[in-house]
This record gives sequence, C-alpha cells and structure tokens, in this order.
Amino acid sequence: ETIINQIAAGEVIERPASVVKELVENAIDAGATRIEIVTAGGGKNLIRVTDNGGGIPADELTLAVSRHCTSKLTDDVHDIRALGFRGEALPSIGSVARLSIKSRTTDADSGYEVVVRGGHLEGPRPTAINRGTIVEVSDLFYATPARLKFMKTDRAESTAITEVVKRIAISFPQIRFSIAGTDRSPLELPATCSAGETVTETAMLERISQVLGADFSENALALDSEREGVRLTGFTAIPSFNRANSLHQFAYINGRPVRDKQVFGALRGAYSDVIARDRHPVGVLFLQLDPSHVDVNVHPAKADVRFRDPGLVRGLIVGTIRHALAQSGI
Ligand code: ADP
Ligand code: MG
Repeated sequence: ETIINQIAAGEVIERPASVVKELVENAIDAGATRIEIVTAGGGKNLIRVTDNGGGIPADELTLAVSRHCTSKLTDDVHDIRALGFRGEALPSIGSVARLSIKSRTTDADSGYEVVVRGGHLEGPRPTAINRGTIVEVSDLFYATPARLKFMKTDRAESTAITEVVKRIAISFPQIRFSIAGTDRSPLELPATCSAGETVTETAMLERISQVLGADFSENALALDSEREGVRLTGFTAIPSFNRANSLHQFAYINGRPVRDKQVFGALRGAYSDVIARDRHPVGVLFLQLDPSHVDVNVHPAKADVRFRDPGLVRGLIVGTIRHALAQSGI
C-alpha cells in the first residue's frame, strides 16, 4: 500500500509546488473564502495550508488519507466540476512526507486531527481548531532521497509555489489568498468580490492586476465571445516589458488552470502579425464549454487537456483576439 502510494506520488507530487497545488485545490473544493499558505525551506521542510472551508467530519478523516477515497466523484467521469476527483493527492503526500490534517466542520463540537508518517496513521484525536482545515506537510521526500536530489534551491522552489498559487488565484477572485514563509516576501491577494456574487469583469481584472501588475490591466483588451457552445472570456495585452514569457500566460478550462500548448499556441498565433517573434503576448484566457467536449483527465497532474474539436477552440481564440486587436486599432 505504501509502495503503491509512493508510485502514485511520483506522478502527482513532483516538487513542493505540486503539494501546494493539491492542497489549495482541496480548500477551494471545500468552499473556502480565505486560504493561507505558509512554507519553510522552499516547502521542503514545511507546507501549511489553512482554510475556512466546510471541513472534514471526524469519521471521514481516515478515509480522506486512504487511496481513491474522494467525496467528489460524480457518475460521469467527464462531468467534473470540482478541481479534485481522483482521491490520490492526500495518500500520495502521506507516503512521501509527514502529513497532519486538522479539521472541524460547522456543526462539530470539536476539531479532529490525523497524522500520517511512513504510511502509518495516528488518530483521529480531538484537537483545538476553528471551523475549516489545516493541512501540514513536513519533511517532504524524507523517505525518497532520490527525489530530494532533484529539488532546486529553496528560493527556486518558493518561486514555483508562488507561481502555482497565482495561477489558481486568477480564476478565484472571490477568495483571499496569502503566502508567507522563511524564504520569500509575503504575498497578499485580497478578494476582489464577495463570495456568492457573480464575478464581474471589473473584479476579474482587479485580481489579474494584483497578479500581473497594473500596467497589464491598463493595456489589456477584454475578450468575450462564443462559438458553438464554447465561450471565451479574458484579457490579453502586448507586454510593456521585454522579458515576458509563458509564465505570463494563463489559461483556464471551466475554471481549472491548464498549461495547454494548443491554447497558448493560439494566443501566440493571434498576435503573430503585431508582435516580434521573440516576444510573447500576455494573456488570461477562460474557456467555458460543456464538460463532455473536453477531457481534462489525460494526466494525473491535470495540466493537459484534449478537446473534442481542437480546430473550433483555436479558431475561437485567434478570431476573437484578432477582432479585438482590429477594434482597438493595433
Ligand atoms: P480529491 O481532491 O481528488 O477528492 P484528495 O486526496 O485531494 O482527493 O482529498 C481526499 C478527500 O479529502 C476529498 O475528497 C475531500 O473530501 C477531503 N478533503 C481534503 N482536503 C480538504 C479540505 N481542505 N477541506 C475539506 N475536505 C477536504
Ligand atoms: Mg484533491
């Protein structure tokens, strides 16, 4: 069992930033409106994610760290609305680190904690905590020294963590994110609209400015179009700085961050006539489409996608951006 989890961990958990991604996505799935991330040693020594979401009932805490136990599966594997769905993240993390989960639901009279170390489970036992969940991961990869060797400097791992959080934060402006730690300057992303409210273009642009800087939003073209059930919204701009790269390109499918070559290729293609070859357009693209028209299940890390009609998606992106460029006289 521990070995199976360690193999699974090899696919899901490559570095501290992958742990942060999984924990933050779980917090979002739990309906959190505040998510706080604290790290030490680039996340190798400590990652702590605190949320104010719905929490995990005491009798489900043990299940949460068991393989393939997810509370999120629907009947149709394509119809995935939650960010997580495989029930792999927590057991994988528990097999390569010390994992502690403290959680308390709204109606519980106490919180509970479980600890996993070396595949061995302790708890649940009562613990003091406010409503929500605190997941603490320490000594990442202590049992798999070969992996530790591939880790970069604390600073580089910290930067990767920040990038992951920024990428997720862009599509959730109603959530407040904060990151702090020993090897970084703290980052605060206050919510730009309230939970439950529909996210306006203004709220979205404000969150994007927090992440990409005010000069992006001042120069950004707003996109909003639809073709055959695929909707594209978002913003693009020619960067005012020369070193913009693919780190300044963000794509989301039904709210889920993806790093998809086809989507980024279409963004570059749309700008090919107006931008030098060695420069990259900056952009945040949100695609909304029927879940049966896209397969986000191709890889456990869930970054790749397969569209049923790739030509339609590319045409929509290129066409919409070129139209917006023409309208603005660029
Ligand atoms: P998945 O997200 O694919 O379901 P995980 O291993 O990431 O699998 O999490 C297992 C389960 O633990 C989730 O389905 C959820 O029920 C519960 N869980 C994990 N993190 C949280 C959290 N922060 N708040 C509430 N429930 C959580
Ligand atoms: Mg998950």
